[in-house]
Amino acid sequence: MANTPRNSRLETLLQHTGAAEFDAKTGNAPVSVPAVRASTVRFADLDALDRAQIAKARGERAVTYGRVGMATHAALEQIFCQLEGGQHCFLAPSGLAAITVALLSLLSSGDHLIVADCVYGPVRTLDQTLFRRMGIDVTYAKADPDTLAGLVRDNTRVIYVESPGSLLFEMLDLPALASFAHTRRLTLATDNTWGSGYIYRPLALGVDVSIIAGTKYVGGHSDLMLGAVVVNDAGLARRLYDTHYAMGYAVSADDAWLALRGVRTLPIRMREHARGALRVCEFLAHRPEVARIYHPAWPHDPGHALWQRDCTGSNGMLSFELKLDNGAARRFVNALRFFGIGYSWGGFESLVELVDTAAVSGHSYWTGAGHALVRLHVGLEAVDDLIADLAQALDHAA
Ligand SMILES: *Cc1c(COP(=O)(O)O)cnc(C)c1O
Repeated sequence: MANTPRNSRLETLLQHTGAAEFDAKTGNAPVSVPAVRASTVRFADLDALDRAQIAKARGERAVTYGRVGMATHAALEQIFCQLEGGQHCFLAPSGLAAITVALLSLLSSGDHLIVADCVYGPVRTLDQTLFRRMGIDVTYAKADPDTLAGLVRDNTRVIYVESPGSLLFEMLDLPALASFAHTRRLTLATDNTWGSGYIYRPLALGVDVSIIAGTKYVGGHSDLMLGAVVVNDAGLARRLYDTHYAMGYAVSADDAWLALRGVRTLPIRMREHARGALRVCEFLAHRPEVARIYHPAWPHDPGHALWQRDCTGSNGMLSFELKLDNGAARRFVNALRFFGIGYSWGGFESLVELVDTAAVSGHSYWTGAGHALVRLHVGLEAVDDLIADLAQALDHAA
């Protein structure tokens, strides 16, 4: 909206960005920008087309064809820039596709990439498939500057991290990692799906590239796949622009519209998820079966001080170790009524995942050998119902 002051708070911007333009004849407009579906775009005259081609050659958002998307996509890009405090946004058809396009923009054959050992599991398949064939070397490591100092090589180009990390929510010191990377002329990229730009803003902490799976809290309703890459630096933006174009990524207008629909309520949803998750932590802390809770907003989490320093809120994600054998842990999960068994998170509903501990055996943060690991997404149900559900399922397991 042209008349929204730039210094408005994020909660306000999220309600006013991407409103539909007024119709010149009627002077009216729907509040919500429609899902503008287009493959083919037509021009009033050749001068209009020329202007678009010139802008495109400069790497600006100019539409000559439907692949980059029209008003719906432009509004969503603007929202992601506001969320992340960035200048340039590139949409991708999934969060993983956003990670892939970011890394392929930054790396060439012969380069070395350092990846935090706590990253989202499927990222490791990039290494085993694409990167190996492309001659890009990958090292996984605990993402702290002391450890990384011994791993940087002459051909290292990028450090790729995720904070808090997947499954165990290990908080990383992003400002320290950014200064480490920049003194060595490396690019620091992070997965910010956990924060989704609202409760954690990596670009403001010195990170160069922030990547969000819009599939999770931005969409918020478990019904779309979408990713975004956000940067400030014009040189990085140009590399992303070219690679994104070459890879032919396109996001459906309907998915962009659903993401816009979802993101309006991101702040109130996130606060409610966070409130519920803390209540669940308090409950779990009193259960004898629970050995350890992983949730950075929980005061006993080792990442709590970093979380307090760098984040402005939390969300519904937590994991906990259970002193139960696999059979009892399976009984616990099967007995839950309100927690759907499934991957993913960020929707309105509660979810549970019995984590295969092989998935965290490569995380230096994991010390729970012998325990079962359960990840919860605390949804928007009444938290007392969720706690009662967890209590009956734990009783059932024992
Ligand atoms: C889900 C997820 C992704 C991938 O997003 P998709 O849209 O499912 O491809 C990336 N990073 C994190 C941390 C995730 O949880």
